[in-house]
Amino acid sequence: MLRNRFTEWSFAIIACVAIIVASCSESTTSPTSTEFIITDSGYSSFDTTQLRGRLSGYAIHDLSVVEQRALLFMRGEEKLVHDLYVSFYARYNRLVFSNIAQSELTHTHAVMLLLQRYQIADPAQSNGPGEFVDTTLQQLYLRLFTAGNSDLVSALLVSAEAEEVDLRDLSYWSARVDNQDTLMVFDNLAKGSRNHLRAFVRNLTERGLRYSPRVLDQATYDAIISAPFE
Ligand code: ZN
Ligand code: ZN
Repeated sequence: MLRNRFTEWSFAIIACVAIIVASCSESTTSPTSTEFIITDSGYSSFDTTQLRGRLSGYAIHDLSVVEQRALLFMRGEEKLVHDLYVSFYARYNRLVFSNIAQSELTHTHAVMLLLQRYQIADPAQSNGPGEFVDTTLQQLYLRLFTAGNSDLVSALLVSAEAEEVDLRDLSYWSARVDNQDTLMVFDNLAKGSRNHLRAFVRNLTERGLRYSPRVLDQATYDAIISAPFE
């Protein structure tokens, strides 16, 4: 009974988030699937209500210890980029940060749905903005937050770097996961990160700045940047 109420309550929160995200979105262009929404500017979100429905079509297989770690880590890392862009928006008042923060909110909720599916306690449950259980993520957040705090260009550079970190980590964990529901979510998170990287680099280019990859190798980076929004 208690669990039913919890599930209903979570569903209500997620439905609200989906509505807020939908109302903030610009016109959508050729979504690859109904649960993954992409705007003209490349802000890529999950429709978490649709995603919940799609996940229910996957069989539940036992998670390995590594798969559990993958979910716990990515729940935190998607929260990290969300919190970072929220703080940059508060500091610089640029829409690119608030729009992508909205996308990241749906990303971290997508991983939370997977945690709920496998009845794993949410590591972010009692963390406020900029707080993380994982010490690697806590240090990463503080480093990126500090580096982006001096001026707008630094914040855009750090944001592009954060998307590269996200792509590197999604690739690392995806190679160690075989549950299809998790791979489907991670695959869409990576698509979102590539679009966000393109969006931040485009912002820098418009300011006459050239971004050089800090995490990915040059060939991987070039392939992403030369391709259109997905
Ligand atoms: Zn993301
Ligand atoms: Zn992102």
